Amino acid sequence: MSEPRLVEVRRNVLRQNDVLARELRERFRAAGVYTVSLVSSPGSGKTAFLEKTLSRMGQRHRVAALVGDLATENDAARLRRSLAPVAQITTGTVCHLDASMVRGALEGWRLDELDFLFIENVGNLVCPSSYDLGEELRLVLLSVTEGEDKPLKYPTIFHTADVAVITKIDLAAAVEFDWDAALANIQAVRPQMPVLRVSAKTGEGMDEWQGFLEARAPVSSAPSGGAVKP
Ligand code: MG
Ligand code: ZN
Repeated sequence: MSEPRLVEVRRNVLRQNDVLARELRERFRAAGVYTVSLVSSPGSGKTAFLEKTLSRMGQRHRVAALVGDLATENDAARLRRSLAPVAQITTGTVCHLDASMVRGALEGWRLDELDFLFIENVGNLVCPSSYDLGEELRLVLLSVTEGEDKPLKYPTIFHTADVAVITKIDLAAAVEFDWDAALANIQAVRPQMPVLRVSAKTGEGMDEWQGFLEARAPVSSAPSGGAVKP
């Protein structure tokens, strides 16, 4: 029995993406750049978190970012305030990044001159889960203002992510965020998933996040330009 044509087309698209993503991952590893992607719903604070991450990490490592949005270069402009190299990917009508967009945005980049590359996906909790971008670590962000049941509503994205980051924790008390429920919902979908808590506004949790990342990435913590390659 032949399957509906659209299903077949979609499957081929995903297969092609996986091949490209695998090539990207090999390139990243060969260049010694640790690649982290960020997914979340719109408005959960990805760009603010990433801007803080780039400024802080940039003091000790060579960092850069790609940022995806349907339209506008606004987020890239914000992230460039960190002084890190940043490229905007505008996807038009496409509500997610794919590996070919990442490859295109990196054309001409010297990956071996980077320690960390961050990829901010388009704000969307659905289809980014299906697209491997060649990243080493996928973060799913959840802000305290979104409610505790997001993991239950969008289990696939939580299931395909490696780490959950709860953002805007400075607002937790004001919105009566239920920490126990949120953590239980995350663990229900993805048992043992590490959970970080951050506020880009106050800086709370940012040291822990940086330490978490440095412990995972196979790069030295030497100052910019002094990174030792194996
Ligand atoms: Mg953004
Ligand atoms: Zn999409």
